[in-house]
Amino acid sequence: MKRVALLGATGSIGRQAIEIVNAHPELELCALQSGSSPLDALAHEHDVAHVQVGGDPEPLLERSQPDVVLNAIVGFAGVRATLWTLERGITLALANKESLVAAGELAIAARDHGGGTLVPVDSEHSALRQCLEGRDPETVTGVVLTASGGPFRGRTRAELAGVTTDEALAHPTWAMGPKITIDSATLANKGLEVIEAHWLFGLAYEQIEVIVHPTSIVHALVRFRDGALLAHLGVPDMRVPISYALTYPERAATNVPVLRLEDLRLDFERVDDEAFPMLELAREAGRRGGTAPCAYNAANEVAVAGFLAGRLGFLDIPATVEATLERVSGAPARDLDDLVAADAKARELAARGLQPA
Ligand code: NAD
Ligand code: MG
Repeated sequence: MKRVALLGATGSIGRQAIEIVNAHPELELCALQSGSSPLDALAHEHDVAHVQVGGDPEPLLERSQPDVVLNAIVGFAGVRATLWTLERGITLALANKESLVAAGELAIAARDHGGGTLVPVDSEHSALRQCLEGRDPETVTGVVLTASGGPFRGRTRAELAGVTTDEALAHPTWAMGPKITIDSATLANKGLEVIEAHWLFGLAYEQIEVIVHPTSIVHALVRFRDGALLAHLGVPDMRVPISYALTYPERAATNVPVLRLEDLRLDFERVDDEAFPMLELAREAGRRGGTAPCAYNAANEVAVAGFLAGRLGFLDIPATVEATLERVSGAPARDLDDLVAADAKARELAARGLQPA
């Protein structure tokens, strides 16, 4: 039996993870956590002894003795669970990309110290891990992440000024939680994913390309030095990378629909960086290093919350992130306390920048 601690159990990834655990007799839920939603019914239904709503997940993880932690919390709030799991050498199935973006250096140090396995749940990174597994790094020249382009693909910057929250929440290919859905509409999600790929695979930013692929069938590609590319294809269904991460290395069966190749159109187009500056801003923050990616993430979280609450326009999101990045020092974090301070500082700057003039 594999004991699974599920953090963010009530969310989009959390609910799909429960479906995967139910389908596999060798997986057992040992702990459930959520931000604020009650968990009693879920805990009763799945006979889970260790449950926690809100607060620090560390005591829950200590008590429940998991073999694998699925971190499906949204935002920087997931950072403690990521570091705790990696430090102990416990397998981390990581959906919470924000923690790796904000705490990249600390997380990789924790993984190397703990000696455990970090399996990404993000579909593009799960795809890359599968294409890269067993390859000599010397033969790999770069990777390509695909982006659906979100609901506003093809629009100019001027056409984005007045878009509504409802329009931004209508994602064309994936059904996800509200924060990542807005991130997909601004392309901040792809920005976070570029930084995530940098840390997961030890690649330089120049080696990580992004291409728009509207149907989300090709999840990612690896370029090799002989000119060959390996691509990972599949229906856009998060149960596949969740199942891969929870049953790694066994690759258990799932009941997702068979991909019908005769129905496929594989179209690719360039990203419009003028309309969607969040991708370039992420690359800049990534290259700057230190706590610049943490500030990028923090300012984005503040701005997205403002947009979802109707206080901000769509274009205020990149404006807030850009202004925040200009004002933070980006000095490296020696430990989690430093990182939490850098996150708080960036949030404060972002929130101040959002005050009506
Ligand atoms: P969601 O909003 O649907 O769910 C978030 C979960 O986190 C909920 O259970 C909520 O209770 C919990 N939570 C919120 N704030 C918290 C806090 N402060 N402390 C502890 N728990 C808290 O989000 P989601 O779409 O499931 O996404 C979860 C993570 O997975 C995000 O990092 C997202 O980027 C990533 N991800 C999601 C998808 C997807 O298809 N949904 C795909 C790739 C990656
Ligand atoms: Mg993704």
